[in-house]
Amino acid sequence: MRYEGVVYRPPSEAGSLIIQATVGCPHNKCAFCAMYSDVKFRARSTEEIIEDLDLALETYGNTVRTVFLADGNCAALPCATLVQIGEAASDRFPQLERITMYGSAKFLVKKSQDEWRKIAAAGITRIHSGLETGDPTTLEEIHKGVTPDEAVASFRHVMGSGIELSVYLMVGIAGIERWREHAIGSAELLSLASPDFIRLRTFVPMLGTAWCERWTDGELTLLSAHEALRETRLLVERLEGPTMLLSDHISNFLDVHGRLPEDRPTMLRQIDDALERPLSAFRPPTETLIGAML
Ligand code: SF4
Repeated sequence: MRYEGVVYRPPSEAGSLIIQATVGCPHNKCAFCAMYSDVKFRARSTEEIIEDLDLALETYGNTVRTVFLADGNCAALPCATLVQIGEAASDRFPQLERITMYGSAKFLVKKSQDEWRKIAAAGITRIHSGLETGDPTTLEEIHKGVTPDEAVASFRHVMGSGIELSVYLMVGIAGIERWREHAIGSAELLSLASPDFIRLRTFVPMLGTAWCERWTDGELTLLSAHEALRETRLLVERLEGPTMLLSDHISNFLDVHGRLPEDRPTMLRQIDDALERPLSAFRPPTETLIGAML
């Protein structure tokens, strides 16, 4: 396989074959993100992508079970291209269980449900979507490109076509200044959308971003482990579900996971137990991780 630049994938795709379908991100405006800041977005040619699938077949045989299409927002590719890639992967890997890709709410709504159904039929059956927050103020300030109402409509739209949706929230993205609004707004938005999965990762400033500057300028205060857990507790209290909450990212202070609403009491107990522990029992403070690739 040939890769250009640093290739990112969700933690849950650690075992997946990574096929780079795009280079960079067509949005490239999120205030906390530097992943593709110096990369001009382009789609790779479908021929190149299919050649990479052939290379993967030569290397791994037909053992591949999951494929992740990198980079940012492959969901922005035309429907016909995604169908062609999906069918080519499914043809080569008969044991394939799913193909996934990133797609933020701004792009998911740009295809009709009929187009999404065709894409799902070709094997692309799960989308990972970074929302980060449901707090209207923070969502606007991080330049995610959607309002909460637009995000709900977009998530419902794609799930209505039978595609599984995994939505990412960023613990601490609103700082201590708006942690409560962030938790409550995110719970409200995601209770309305009810994605299949909600995945937490904790905000660690990326150097060179506006959101990092906000921290260095003293306008955004990073959360301690206890503050992050209190924010997560409020989220868990308010999320109605049905959904699966996961914390499958190394940046988190605690692995809180379970089905909502059924596992809410267990998750709250787990958080309360963790809140009894000293700060030294958790990973190092976020301030010490800045500059590390998380
Ligand atoms: S949509 Fe994703 S990859 Fe693109 S700028 Fe925002 S966070 Fe970064």
